[in-house]
Amino acid sequence: MNKTPPKHHPGIIDSFEVENHNLKVGGMPLSQLAERVGQTPFYAYDRLKMTQRLEQLRSQMPNELQIHYAMKANPMPAVVQHMAGIVDGLDVASAGEMRIALDTGMPASQISMAGPGKRPAELSQAIAAGITINIESFNELEEIAVQSSRLGIAATVALRINPAFELKSSGMKMGGGPKQFGIDEEQVPAALKRIAELQLDFTGFHIFSGSQNLKPEAIIEAQQKSIELAIQLADSCPAPIRKLNIGGGLGIPYFPGEKPLDIAPISEALDKQIQRSKQYLPEASVIIELGRYLVGEAGIYVTRIVDRKISYKQLYLIADGGLNHHLSASGNFGQIIRKNYPVAIGNKMNWPTEEEAMVTGALCTPLDLLADKMELSTAEVGDFVVIFQSGAYGLSASPANFLNQPSAVEVLI
Ligand SMILES: *Cc1c(COP(=O)(O)O)cnc(C)c1O
Repeated sequence: MNKTPPKHHPGIIDSFEVENHNLKVGGMPLSQLAERVGQTPFYAYDRLKMTQRLEQLRSQMPNELQIHYAMKANPMPAVVQHMAGIVDGLDVASAGEMRIALDTGMPASQISMAGPGKRPAELSQAIAAGITINIESFNELEEIAVQSSRLGIAATVALRINPAFELKSSGMKMGGGPKQFGIDEEQVPAALKRIAELQLDFTGFHIFSGSQNLKPEAIIEAQQKSIELAIQLADSCPAPIRKLNIGGGLGIPYFPGEKPLDIAPISEALDKQIQRSKQYLPEASVIIELGRYLVGEAGIYVTRIVDRKISYKQLYLIADGGLNHHLSASGNFGQIIRKNYPVAIGNKMNWPTEEEAMVTGALCTPLDLLADKMELSTAEVGDFVVIFQSGAYGLSASPANFLNQPSAVEVLI
């Protein structure tokens, strides 16, 4: 067979350097990095790629736009610390994440907490810390008031709206119909009235309608509707809107045929909306909160082949890691149809021969699949399987205890 370029996502795989057939991460060849880490499987995150990604986005987006990092995408403390140094704020989804966020030195005024089902103890920790709580329900609103008066601290709050509109063509919808998130648009005036009665420190709105979107038109429409909605509601607010968090939704390409998001049209439309917002909501900073867009492409998952076998003519490469560390790559993290993430044999990049392989993990379940019939460099036991686009929703989003296999290590380089 001839030397052929990787068939899946050449752009993504090619964004990493290669030296002597070895993939380089953060300037280090993979085989050396594996020795440094001391084990497979592991995740490696490249801090320079994260920084470059953010700088690129800032250079394209309107100057006034505040960019927050939604840390559930990758909560590794070293990653959050790195991101804290380059973004304008952090969004957390639990008190556990809040502790990591506060440890970075990010001011509490730049941290917000979202998510349904916040327990009284989480609310009181957030109030004591002084971060902004995005209110998700009427019960939560009352509990915040209870905890606020117990502590003698006025809670800083924003109201999360579940808008009547949806983010079209989104990987995961988080608004625009019955949802556990936020307060329905039509109930917002009643919630605002209650916030005023309870004398909470109202800062603005949070409107997050979906995730993993690769369609600029859909994102533009949702952002425009979000800002419009805030403008309409401004008169019912107990205080001027200071923060207008319009969510995120910016996706990254994972699967064959998907293209990187074109930021230019989004930025152009958003600039107009921000100018409009300045006119009607003069005190408001417009914020977007991004997870995977900032860190997803900066990370790889590395696992080592421990067995090679043929079953009814199909080649199987069996690796020492799989869905227990990387549920998303196995196709079991909310995907409807399983598709292959970009995969390569990391110590045999641009190898002269290829063969079609199934790459599986070591778990006793057919769900533990990392590559389904992919053309990969001819691989042997001991070679490295690399899964790209793994900087977000990797280890922390995987069932690490399933089958009690050894855990994966994470490094930031
Ligand atoms: C998960 C989440 C995000 C981040 O989503 P990505 O798709 O990783 O960008 C942002 N905001 C909220 C409220 C979230 O729940």
